[in-house]
Amino acid sequence: MSAQRFNAGQVAVVTGAARGIGLGIATRLAQQGVFTYLLDRDEGALAAEIERMQALGLQVHGIALDLTEAQAVNRAFARIEEVHGRLDFLVNNAGVVRDKRFLQMTDDDWDLVVDTNLRAQFLCCRAAIGLMLGKGFGRIVNLSSRAWLGGFGQANYSAAKGGVVSLTRSLAIEFAAKGITVNAVAPGIVDTPLFRGFDEQVQARLKDTVPVKRIGTADDIAHAVEFLLDPASSYVTGQTLYVCGGRSLSSASV
Ligand code: NAD
Repeated sequence: MSAQRFNAGQVAVVTGAARGIGLGIATRLAQQGVFTYLLDRDEGALAAEIERMQALGLQVHGIALDLTEAQAVNRAFARIEEVHGRLDFLVNNAGVVRDKRFLQMTDDDWDLVVDTNLRAQFLCCRAAIGLMLGKGFGRIVNLSSRAWLGGFGQANYSAAKGGVVSLTRSLAIEFAAKGITVNAVAPGIVDTPLFRGFDEQVQARLKDTVPVKRIGTADDIAHAVEFLLDPASSYVTGQTLYVCGGRSLSSASV
């Protein structure tokens, strides 16, 4: 594990944290003494993880909600303000895929993917920045994807993840002078339930396209997120950091 970067008393929100990459990020923050809120719509998985983490002595709290609903998001952040009066870190991680050839893509496929991957980040950033401005400090990391460069059968997902890059850059510009940095991380292929949802042939083909010849782990992503959340990373803002084993450099999509 890296050197201690964070302090007890600091507060973080990680969205989509009941499993996968979000759970990995939340675990690392909590292990370093940050009071960490895990937000997810999967109430059962969230409750189980919170119980497990609290049993290890970690300061974590779960909030079950649908992140695409503005009122639910605002309520969650208002509660954090009430309890802690501060928010230091936001990691917008929740995401879904609904890959399809373009002409088969339905309105629902488009709306679900864009709402979850992009609108939820807008809602959470708006609520979080309101809180961060009070202390003149904040670190936001938005999960994009290498797929924002374009992906076969991924028009909805690529567009949403490209939107994340643009959202990140615009917020970085608007809040740079206020002590708030906003960066994005663009993972390549990571071994999570989302990845395991692809059929085995697709999984094998994907692995073969990674220059370092392995699938990434949640910890690979958490490591990069931690760097961008570090209070010492105050001169890095508006950037998109690829964590993809070199796959952003040249490879075609699946
Ligand atoms: P995952 O599917 O394993 O976990 C996503 C979590 O988000 C789930 O717990 C789910 O319940 C939650 N969630 C989804 N929609 C929600 C909503 N509306 N409200 C509340 N919670 C919601 O995903 P993952 O693989 O860990 O991916 C995490 C992030 O990384 C996503 O943004 C994804 O697009 C991105 N990413 C993943 C990969 C990969 O290969 N796994 C690659 C590139 C980018």
